[in-house]
Amino acid sequence: MTIKTRFAPSPTGYLHIWSLRTVLYNYLYAKQKWWSFMLRVEDTDRTRLVEDSIENMLEILEKFGMTPDEWPNSDLWNWPYVQSERLDIYQKYIKELIEKEQAYYCFCTPERLTNLREEQQSLKIPTKYDQNCRFLTEEETQAKLDAGEKYTVRLKVPKDINIEFIDAIKGKISVPSKDVDDQVLLKTDGFPTYHFAVVVDDYLMKVTDIIRWDEWIPSTPKHVLIYRAFGWEIPRISHIPPLIWANKKKLSKRDWDVAVEQYLEKGYLIEAIINYLALLGWNPKTTEEFFTMSELIERFDLEAVHKSGAFFDVERLDFFNAHYLKNMDILELYEKFKKYLSIYDKEFLEKISNFSPEYNKKILSELNTRIKKFDDLKGLTIYFYWDYTFPEDELILNSKMKLENFDDVEKALNITLEILKNKSWKFESTDEMKAIFIEKIKEAEMKNWQVLWPTRCALSWEKFSPWAFEMIYILWKEESINRIEKYLNSIK
Ligand code: GLU
Repeated sequence: MTIKTRFAPSPTGYLHIWSLRTVLYNYLYAKQKWWSFMLRVEDTDRTRLVEDSIENMLEILEKFGMTPDEWPNSDLWNWPYVQSERLDIYQKYIKELIEKEQAYYCFCTPERLTNLREEQQSLKIPTKYDQNCRFLTEEETQAKLDAGEKYTVRLKVPKDINIEFIDAIKGKISVPSKDVDDQVLLKTDGFPTYHFAVVVDDYLMKVTDIIRWDEWIPSTPKHVLIYRAFGWEIPRISHIPPLIWANKKKLSKRDWDVAVEQYLEKGYLIEAIINYLALLGWNPKTTEEFFTMSELIERFDLEAVHKSGAFFDVERLDFFNAHYLKNMDILELYEKFKKYLSIYDKEFLEKISNFSPEYNKKILSELNTRIKKFDDLKGLTIYFYWDYTFPEDELILNSKMKLENFDDVEKALNITLEILKNKSWKFESTDEMKAIFIEKIKEAEMKNWQVLWPTRCALSWEKFSPWAFEMIYILWKEESINRIEKYLNSIK
């Protein structure tokens, strides 16, 4: 059997980071079976439309390497993929349901429905349509239609049956039909409701597998009834577990990123986001944690998706991102970093472009283990890219390190200068540099930190920065000597 999955967003704004997991599971499942993944736009709720949502979502899917095979305006254009362009199709199928006596016209006014709901609420009984129009005779219905009364069309939910379906993840789900409302299928404005359009479209567009968020479980019995009313085969349905914010209390509102775009803006890597999301609710049944997209395609198994919710934890995402940053080839990392800056921080890109690629790559290769994401880099590289600033006295003088006055500092920095100026030392690595420093400091009968602390402060004036050896290794001898001499002059 050929498999076709779909992502069916409503164009109501940005792509939520959690929805990206829905996309991912649909994508992995379809690609594993060498079949197709489609995007359909569900825009029947006209009150919530946000312009350009779909273009933005498609752009993001493309960045993540999950461009659908079929999507609005793609080459593979089989039919309109936007529900508002399919209204005549829904009209045709709604007529069919009415003719089959599986649906009926409802002429109840909004006022009547509001009163009904309020009455039920005051009696503390479930709010439901009271089927007032279900039993109108054909003549009564026709008379109202002829008089031009506004109507909706409702599903005729069968009495006293159990509506059953098998969810590929949750198992058998059974709901008594008395708990299911005579759902509106067609609204007064001629637009279908989600329930009707989703069934008609999934059927006509030959979707074989519906993989969606489990908040849609309560709607599925209604869909099952519509499939049955038409006599259509029901696709395989899988409801994936909900996601829950971890450490919600710990996060301030500002940290509350919901849009995928916000994660990209912070400089999370695509591969890290994909890897992390894939594991949120799916058990790869191994202790391995790191998977590329093609490994995920190969290994993903819908049946191994958990039934219950998973925590979305930004700290876990940081862990995955740090892993990819640390292990990526520096050239690739550099290219990605430049690409990131070209979108999110052009000014910084311009700044680093004034330096040699070798210098920039060296910085990345020293700092890739210290950052969680690209936007951490700016703060950590001030002393590599911006003009020299003298360190504050309070930073460099430190009685605990026996750096009580500037004489102590000067003595220490002169040792560093002597080492740096000695041409016979090549400093092939930070380890080699370290060995030389330790030996010379020992000869001067000083403690390591007594020399290394002021060295690091004179090179990078911030409270936090890489260690002295890393600083020297990146700045290299000439610039390090420059900075230290500048500083020594300033304290004279
Ligand atoms: N339009 C629905 C949504 O945005 C899709 C639900 C479904 O996949 O059936 O959540």
